[in-house]
Amino acid sequence: MIDKIIQESSEVLVIGCGKSGIEAAKLLKSLDKNILLYDDNYDEDKNVKTFDAINIEATNNLDLINKMVELKEFDLVVTSPGIPKAHILHSTAQENNILIVSELELAFQFCKRPIIAITGSNGKSTTTKLISEIINNSGKEAIPCGNYGTPLAAFVLQEHQPDYYVAEVSSFQLEWIHDFKPKVGIILNVQADHLDRHGTINEYASTKKLLFKNMDSSELAIAFKKTLDDFNDISTDAKVTVFTDSKTNDSEFHYLNNSIYQGTKKCISISNSYFDNKVLSLNAIAAYIATSFFKIDKEIIKETILNFKSLSHRTEFVRKIDNRIFIDDSKATNLASLEAALNTFGTKKNIILIAGGILKEKKLEYTKDLLDKFVKKIYLIGNDGNVMLDAWKDIVSCEYKKTLENAAKSAFQESESGDIILLSPACASFDQFSGYKERGQVFQKLANSF
Ligand code: ADP
Repeated sequence: MIDKIIQESSEVLVIGCGKSGIEAAKLLKSLDKNILLYDDNYDEDKNVKTFDAINIEATNNLDLINKMVELKEFDLVVTSPGIPKAHILHSTAQENNILIVSELELAFQFCKRPIIAITGSNGKSTTTKLISEIINNSGKEAIPCGNYGTPLAAFVLQEHQPDYYVAEVSSFQLEWIHDFKPKVGIILNVQADHLDRHGTINEYASTKKLLFKNMDSSELAIAFKKTLDDFNDISTDAKVTVFTDSKTNDSEFHYLNNSIYQGTKKCISISNSYFDNKVLSLNAIAAYIATSFFKIDKEIIKETILNFKSLSHRTEFVRKIDNRIFIDDSKATNLASLEAALNTFGTKKNIILIAGGILKEKKLEYTKDLLDKFVKKIYLIGNDGNVMLDAWKDIVSCEYKKTLENAAKSAFQESESGDIILLSPACASFDQFSGYKERGQVFQKLANSF
């Protein structure tokens, strides 16, 4: 039914001029639809203007667009992940029975290849990259897409089609899906143990669950056990395979002795790879299960895991000097990913942590146990560095250094042989940098200057 509405629509409102909105608009344009783009931030001028890059009309005139929706001047609304569910244009469209779909749903309607979709709080990009590489190394072609880089909508009408799409999917992209379903769906961790950090975590979790909702028995749903337990009412017709970070029964996958196991059966060794630790191994396990479903040779999976190079700024090894190791985890913009980094590298109290920036969460005490276990000193930077210092100073020695440069210099000066100097800010970076990439680059430059 959705496909019919999309096919028969001639007037389409696309909300959001980001990557998803633009790719959705381009797809619709190639289907000869009449499109109007709306974005709160589009241009100062309130009049409708042409969005030059794609030669489509665009506006930021909310009153005008809302009126047009009320008058049912659109047959279809395509919305972007950045637009809140409660946006007035969504409710007006719903009140007037105008179908709203996400870019992901729109693209799915035209997609002729199996999709492997990955969602979760942390580890999505890494898992997307790994699965794509395994498939490409097997002689088949996979295109990583979605949040990972280019939206799926950009590819589905192209003449050349790969064998698979590997889509990194955020919870926002799952809002406004209807028919969308992957051939293999993966739900990694959802930080439900920090319920009170996110006012809407329940909604967040239920949105993630949508990934499995439409899947049937010929399809594979792969889920992290803890996430399944937290969800407790997952509904899917797909075959469900579970992986876990702790004790396991015979069918569950887990990491043990530097290897991936299913129950007591060893599947492959991942020794000395990027994934050879209790946190990142979970991504390798999900990739192993997903690619085994497509009957990819275990040796190819193993070799790809062993040769995997991390994405930049995700627990990335930078340099070893005088037996001190510098790790750039600038992508860690929340407390959960800081915790993941501490769990990844923590063996004893030998981590010197650089953290701070713009905090996205209020409850800092969850992280205290791990800091106490593995961190000997914290250098804080940025806007909320002092808030973090106040929260953590009773368990670890903390110093506010304001800038990353000061913090990195002090960390190196104070470090001893065997220490790990870890940038894992647990914060957004926009107070001092253009984004996590620039923050990581500055850190790497500093690390390489000592
Ligand atoms: P995402 O795309 O979901 O943001 P990334 O693959 O970019 O995830 O990794 C972001 C951060 O999450 C990294 O800094 C890494 O340390 C942490 N991380 C990666 N995989 C996991 C996992 N399975 N569980 C918890 N944290 C993880």
